[in-house]
Amino acid sequence: MKIEDIVIIGSGPAGYTAAVYAARANLAPLVIEGYQSGGLLMLTSDVENFPGFPEGIQGPDLMTRMRGQAERFGARFVQKNATSVDFTKVPLAVFIEQEKVEARTVIISTGASTKWLDLESERRLLGKGVSSCATCDGAFFKNSRLVVAGGGDSAMEEATFLTRFASKVTVVHRRDSLRASKIMQDRARNNPKIDFIWNAAVVDVLGTNGVSGVRLRDLVSLEEREFPCEGLFVAIGHEPNTTFLRGRLALDEKGYIVMPHRPTTRTSVAGVFAAGDVQDTIYRQAVTAAASGCSAAIDAERYLESLH
Ligand code: NAP
Repeated sequence: MKIEDIVIIGSGPAGYTAAVYAARANLAPLVIEGYQSGGLLMLTSDVENFPGFPEGIQGPDLMTRMRGQAERFGARFVQKNATSVDFTKVPLAVFIEQEKVEARTVIISTGASTKWLDLESERRLLGKGVSSCATCDGAFFKNSRLVVAGGGDSAMEEATFLTRFASKVTVVHRRDSLRASKIMQDRARNNPKIDFIWNAAVVDVLGTNGVSGVRLRDLVSLEEREFPCEGLFVAIGHEPNTTFLRGRLALDEKGYIVMPHRPTTRTSVAGVFAAGDVQDTIYRQAVTAAASGCSAAIDAERYLESLH
């Protein structure tokens, strides 16, 4: 069986940048992209903070360009999910269902996924008024009243974007101050269509075939009330995509890959490197993910050289 020099798992800015660097080093990396390639930026509209695009660029457009750049230098792609790994032996093994891929080095850049409020009604009404993606679903809510749950940059971005369609957007946040960056806060606070409910949690989504409101709990008085709206956008952050890695390398209590050798991208297993949101609890930006993908490719290249 052919042993790959570099297998990259994941296809956001980290995975594709690792692929560009590894491909330009003539290592013909194999990128296991997943069924939904391109990562979270595929769900983003305007990316205004990726250097080199002063007018901004659409998230999916940026990812298509990164992929094309990697392909140009010889990266290969598999549009399936990696389902498990075996890092106990050399060569390392990555499984795509029953199919086994052997590799000298593996770069993990599987990113993070949307966090949900974990309500039965939220699951039941997903796609019927409950969403986590304003870019995908906002246009369905013309002249509607919407609630956005969360207090970070995602919540501000979603709320601001949704005012293009909605008549009113109410941000419900569990504390009385926002986590979002100042510029994103200001944009939301200055938008006349956006208001805020502080110290409150969405504890139920109301409606049968569509959303008719949410039940809010005041986290100070503990009183509950119904709040009418036609849609709920959940924007409370993300969880690392590492379920398939449990028990195979060191993860922290939230599931992020532990990086014992910073600033390098080495993980707890020799020959396995990690980049992007899957190991980043602080910055989580497209450009920092891309940068760590570059570092991972260089680390993997040097590791390969050390094997000779
Ligand atoms: P985040 O910064 O982790 O914020 C999550 C928000 O949701 C926090 O306000 C948190 O409340 C709240 N929250 C978490 N769990 C909750 C729960 N179970 N119930 C109710 N509320 C809950 O996540 P994010 O907004 O997705 O941003 C992630 C990263 O991406 C950040 O680094 C951000 O800067 C970046 N980002 C940047 C942009 C941009 O610049 N255009 C856009 C989006 C995201 P607490 O505040 O109480 O913890």
